[in-house]
Amino acid sequence: MPTALVTGITGQDGSYLAELLLSKGYRVVGIVRRSSTTPYERIAHLVDRIELVSADLLDQTSLTDVVGDCAPDEIYNLAAQSFVQTSWSQPVLTGEFTALGVTRVLEAMKKAAPKARFYQASSSEMFGKVVESPQRETTPFYPRSPYGVAKVYGHWITVNYRESFGLYAVSGILFNHESPRRGLEFVTRKVTDAVARIKLGMAKEVRLGNLDSRRDWGFAGDYVDAMWRMLQQDAADDYVIGTGHTCSVRDLCQAAFACVGLDYRDHVAQDPRFFRPAEVDLLVADPSKAARQLGWTPKVSFEELVRMMVEADLERLRPRA
Ligand code: GDP
Repeated sequence: MPTALVTGITGQDGSYLAELLLSKGYRVVGIVRRSSTTPYERIAHLVDRIELVSADLLDQTSLTDVVGDCAPDEIYNLAAQSFVQTSWSQPVLTGEFTALGVTRVLEAMKKAAPKARFYQASSSEMFGKVVESPQRETTPFYPRSPYGVAKVYGHWITVNYRESFGLYAVSGILFNHESPRRGLEFVTRKVTDAVARIKLGMAKEVRLGNLDSRRDWGFAGDYVDAMWRMLQQDAADDYVIGTGHTCSVRDLCQAAFACVGLDYRDHVAQDPRFFRPAEVDLLVADPSKAARQLGWTPKVSFEELVRMMVEADLERLRPRA
């Protein structure tokens, strides 16, 4: 039975990846940070089948010990400070987790499990102010936030440890991926949660920032399968993962409100608080290398994704009899 070690197991991607790995017969070990409360809502249905161990991306010793103790075949580094907006108010912390955290996990692997395979959760935010469209593995990076800058560091340190030390280390450049488990601060979930509240009479409007920015949004459940496939190849390599389609935040609002028969123009207000100091205007992936080499294609369309999220929020918020 292979062992997978997952940082960020309590997050959206960690929970879907844990489900996938369990279904494939893995022993799944998840790293959690010590806390007096247990924010395990996304993995509550899995806690009996996975092992949780305590370590911290800011603490080298704890990471090296955990890697040594659990002897992983695969390490998935999904933990980060992952919200772009927060990276302007906490830029140093974002760099500690999202940039240097990657080096710490790689150091732990180099010392304690050098034969393991390493996946780094890289991000389309690295493309930022895009220099070509669609974006592919060879597109130069131009990050537009402290988060994007930190992810560029994480990408290159992964490539560097592969080239310097011969580690099997890959960087998966994933475009935005969403689900009913997405954090409420991200625009997709903020909108679908608001649609459900407005439909149920619990709210009247939702306040958003820039409605014109465009993203390539896919379903997180599809994307964790791409992560796994990247670690099953003969040689480590980097891949762009996305749908190849782009929609605006306005399109998202239109589609989400239409799911419940409402017109977004009656309920969406713009609020300067949600505009960003520097914006990423357009992201759209060229995922053809992943299709060719990994046999990966996305299964869930944008419309299906939005409907899935609206229905899950309606179900969660509907008053119980
Ligand atoms: P990101 O691509 O990782 O930054 O994912 P987000 O879901 O946080 O943001 C996607 C896009 O939606 C960005 O261009 C934001 O500027 C835009 N957006 C517009 N209004 C909002 C809002 O109220 N919250 C968030 N999170 N994003 C918003």
